[in-house]
Amino acid sequence: AIEMQQVCTRFGDKVVHEGLDLQIRRGEIFAIVGGSGSGKSTLLREMILLHKPDSGTVKVLGIDLAGISDEQASSLRQRCGVMFQKGGLFGTLTVTENIGLPLREHSELDDGSIDEIAAWKLSLSGLKPEAGGLYPTELSGGMLKRAALARALALDPELLFLDEPTAGLDPASAGGLDALLRHLHQLYQPTIVMITHDLDLLWQVTHRVAVLGEGKVLAVGTMEELSQLQHPVIRDYFDGARG
Ligand code: ATP
Ligand code: MG
Repeated sequence: AIEMQQVCTRFGDKVVHEGLDLQIRRGEIFAIVGGSGSGKSTLLREMILLHKPDSGTVKVLGIDLAGISDEQASSLRQRCGVMFQKGGLFGTLTVTENIGLPLREHSELDDGSIDEIAAWKLSLSGLKPEAGGLYPTELSGGMLKRAALARALALDPELLFLDEPTAGLDPASAGGLDALLRHLHQLYQPTIVMITHDLDLLWQVTHRVAVLGEGKVLAVGTMEELSQLQHPVIRDYFDGARG
């Protein structure tokens, strides 16, 4: 579903990606881990056309993002759902209106059908119907993440991107997201790419994990495989995350 080859990214003097290679298969639940500042969010932004690497190839759903036309970009965006690190919902719209926005923009559906789809995505994301009438500021952290997930699901994306879906949540609000993502994946097998440090999500939900560091993918594999590796950065990560 995603192919990155020899991707190089820098911000001024700061080198973030230095010849990074990564392959994510269709239908896979894939996680990206790595220390703060290792370039995880930037990598994700490069997959969703929000940042262009300085060099290298990024292919998403078979489309080379270099030299993509506006038309291709717009159709690709419709096939990708994104849940941003900070939610990214419009504060002036209710949750239901936020979920309906991509449907209004990209479909000819009438208001009634849009509200119906929004209600279904709300429940799929683990929110009660009442939450649909609330504004983002009226939501708890856990509800806000779920509302952002519901919006990301609006167009039944083939590719779902999640940037730290459980970060900043207490265990009670984070709990259940693992089952929810597994259920979602069973429903229509989207490819899911998430950035997370949540060991529960990593062990219980993801198929494979990439460890980012030193501008590269240091290792890719199942959690079982990675936990066997002796690379110091990976050991730090596993030992730290466990301790
Ligand atoms: P975190 O775990 O803290 O979210 P991350 O792995 O997601 O970190 P990135 O946000 O991708 O890291 O940032 C990687 C590096 O690139 C950081 O040093 C950051 O300061 C820098 N950086 C990212 N975006 C920009 C930008 N738009 N302009 C300048 N520097 C940037
Ligand atoms: Mg980040």
